[in-house]
Amino acid sequence: MNPRTTGVATEPGYTVVENASLEGRNTFRVPARAEILVDVRRPGALAEVLAIPYVQRNPLLILGGGSNMLFTRDWPGTVVCIATHDIRVLDDLGHAALVRVEAGENWNDFVHWSLSRGFVGLENLVLIPGSVGAAPIQNIGAYGREASQFIATVEAWDRQAARLVRLDNTSCRFAYRDSLFKHEPDRYVITAVELLLPRAGELRTDYAGIAEELASMNCTASAPTVAEAVARLRTRKLPNPALIGNAGSFFKNPVVAAAFALELQREHPALPTWSADDGARKLSAAWMIEASGMKGVRDGDAGVSDQHALVLVNHGRATGEQVWALAQQVQAKVLERFGVMLEPEPIIV
Ligand SMILES: Cc1cc2nc3c(=O)[nH]c(=O)nc-3n(C[C@H](O)[C@H](O)[C@H](O)COP(=O)(O)OP(=O)(O)OC[C@H]3O[C@@H](n4cnc5c(N)ncnc54)[C@H](O)[C@@H]3O)c2cc1C
Repeated sequence: MNPRTTGVATEPGYTVVENASLEGRNTFRVPARAEILVDVRRPGALAEVLAIPYVQRNPLLILGGGSNMLFTRDWPGTVVCIATHDIRVLDDLGHAALVRVEAGENWNDFVHWSLSRGFVGLENLVLIPGSVGAAPIQNIGAYGREASQFIATVEAWDRQAARLVRLDNTSCRFAYRDSLFKHEPDRYVITAVELLLPRAGELRTDYAGIAEELASMNCTASAPTVAEAVARLRTRKLPNPALIGNAGSFFKNPVVAAAFALELQREHPALPTWSADDGARKLSAAWMIEASGMKGVRDGDAGVSDQHALVLVNHGRATGEQVWALAQQVQAKVLERFGVMLEPEPIIV
């Protein structure tokens, strides 16, 4: 493998491209290149790929659908994309089933698979872009539900131990947009996720307009109708990455001490807050960005969406560096006005 030449080689179970463009592999659609891009299609091939001397000697980045990443530079090494596919029921318990999903499956396709087989639980997580393998990384969540509520086990290649490991839900240390995998980013390559999916259960319709959407659809609540309501809400509220480059919410909602939240609300009574773990409060980052005058702001082709203040967009030919510079401007404005430092949700490369 000579990283200085451009070429394509297909090995059993994986494909290697040298000097590969990543522009079509990130939803911001910013330009970036990888010295080597490997698509792993056979589960067992990952260990072979990671043992290649070039891969061992150079920086390694794992890429899924690129919907939670901002490339601000080329990648000086190997980018590995897990492109394995399979969904299998491992154990049917009647009231629930344990389902194994290969990391390369598309998350939204898997949600639809679960709905079509009568499972309940993933309906609020419909239309989240990306792969199943990335879902545990930031513990994807939306409309009052998180993936961690259903994940039983994560199977991963442990690069330190050079073997496959199985991590149960507790070992994954899931929290709001967080997990063990974010804290040890160079250690685990997720190969499959096993989820315990119930066939009945409480539906979450009390969140962000779901009940109102169901009423306007003239529907009673069931897993498929809640999924349809959430899909309609998301389609209306979030800019579509197929039309305008973005990575969804660019900032996390900051979690602060209750006393500080109260102080802020005294000064800004309209600031929305929600309860978080251990008595803390979560603040609306979108509201603070809008109140800082940054909604809809544009610097060249990098912009803050005028549809949703939490979403940064690429209007056309922005580079990752330009988007990141604008993100830092947003952080500075919110810090100045509210004394809160916003933390980016995507991985900045
Ligand atoms: C329009 C839009 C809406 C969104 N809405 C939501 C939302 O509602 N809720 C939410 O939580 N997120 C949301 N996101 C963010 C994104 O969809 C999720 O974070 C998703 O899980 C990213 O998946 P991906 O495969 O694209 O990961 P990538 O962007 O490719 O990677 C993200 C991170 O995971 C790592 N990674 C990926 N695959 C693996 C693997 N197999 N093993 C180890 N590490 C891996 C990468 O190295 C990187 O650090 C949204 C994004 C967009 C564009």
